[in-house]
Amino acid sequence: MSDDLTVENKSKILIIDDTPDNLRLLSTTLSEEGYDVRCAINGKLALMAIKNELPDLILLDIKMPDMDGYTVCHQLKLQPETTEIPVIFLSALDDVFDKVKAFNTGGIDYITKPFQVEEVLVRVKNQLTIFRLKQQLQYKNKQLQQLNQELIRSNQDLEQFAYVVSHDLQQPLQSITGFAEIILSLKDQINLEQEADEFITPILEEGMRMQAFIQSLLNYSRVGLHQKEFSSVDCNLMVAETLLKLRQTIQESGAIVTYSNLPVIHADSIQIGQLFQNLISNSIKYCHPHRLVKINIFAEELLEEYQFCIEDNGIGIEAQFYEKIFQVFQRLSSEQKGDGHGIGLATCKKIIERHQGRIWLESQVDIGTTFYFTIPIKNQSSHE
Ligand code: ADP
Repeated sequence: MSDDLTVENKSKILIIDDTPDNLRLLSTTLSEEGYDVRCAINGKLALMAIKNELPDLILLDIKMPDMDGYTVCHQLKLQPETTEIPVIFLSALDDVFDKVKAFNTGGIDYITKPFQVEEVLVRVKNQLTIFRLKQQLQYKNKQLQQLNQELIRSNQDLEQFAYVVSHDLQQPLQSITGFAEIILSLKDQINLEQEADEFITPILEEGMRMQAFIQSLLNYSRVGLHQKEFSSVDCNLMVAETLLKLRQTIQESGAIVTYSNLPVIHADSIQIGQLFQNLISNSIKYCHPHRLVKINIFAEELLEEYQFCIEDNGIGIEAQFYEKIFQVFQRLSSEQKGDGHGIGLATCKKIIERHQGRIWLESQVDIGTTFYFTIPIKNQSSHE
């Protein structure tokens, strides 16, 4: 069904009747009214014609050789693609016409022959209007259901969001207020210069943690809103810049990061930088305690997309969590190291979806993880 229900299209009517005179009369009358009319002289041909192109309405003679109108109607009602098409039965006054059977097989109305042109036109128009309204109602219902699903999902996200934000901000805030109270209560006894390390440094650190958390939340929520035009992004330069930003973490961990021959892609440079930063810093954060951290970044040109790989030799991830970790606020355990909040990979996923790509991973516990993502080679879209 077309999404655009406001467009009045020429309704298609199929007339099924074995009497050529009836076919001619009905077809001329309806064509003159502007309908797109097709005819079939028996049930079998009619079913074939319907399969080829679905009509909006069927006028169906009851009495036909081989396959009568009831049988044709019954067959149409059995198929999901034809079950909704309204069928108006045509019956001669002297036919033994079983109205109950006609309605039971799925007929929606009937007209008796000889026809009164005005009656035919009114009944056809009424049924087409009902059919259109029914279609519109079904379409609107489907839209409403989708909206409802989205609402439920965003409500759940919001609840989770409120919980994580309040929970994760509470602890650093408690530290900050706690240390501030100590300073206040001891202000006459302590030499601030000497005690700065003990009391003021934690305040600063906790403040910075809160800032980092709020920044990652902002990054996540901005991906969809970010309207930066796509441009040519040299991923070699992008990774080099990211390593520069992460140089302190890299130095402290002793990580060896290698990359080569990365392609130039059409993308949002800021978001691609963010993506590399999240994936590389995760590889360092979730490194194996007894191994030198090694990260290798490479890409392959496939038929219609570039496939990037970021391979590490860290702690690995169990297969059951491969999907879960891409959901916002999902961490594998609260005891794990690093002070993440489960926002990084959800942000990566959102970024990749905005670029019409895919992101997934392969991993072996205790051996390492490889994150893959794709970017279409001809990435036309510049906005979400
Ligand atoms: P976080 O802020 O917790 O790091 P992410 O969304 O970046 O949030 O990651 C979600 C979870 O996925 C992490 O908590 C961690 O358990 C797991 N994870 C992510 N990257 C890796 C990796 N390279 N190796 C092992 N585990 C990882």
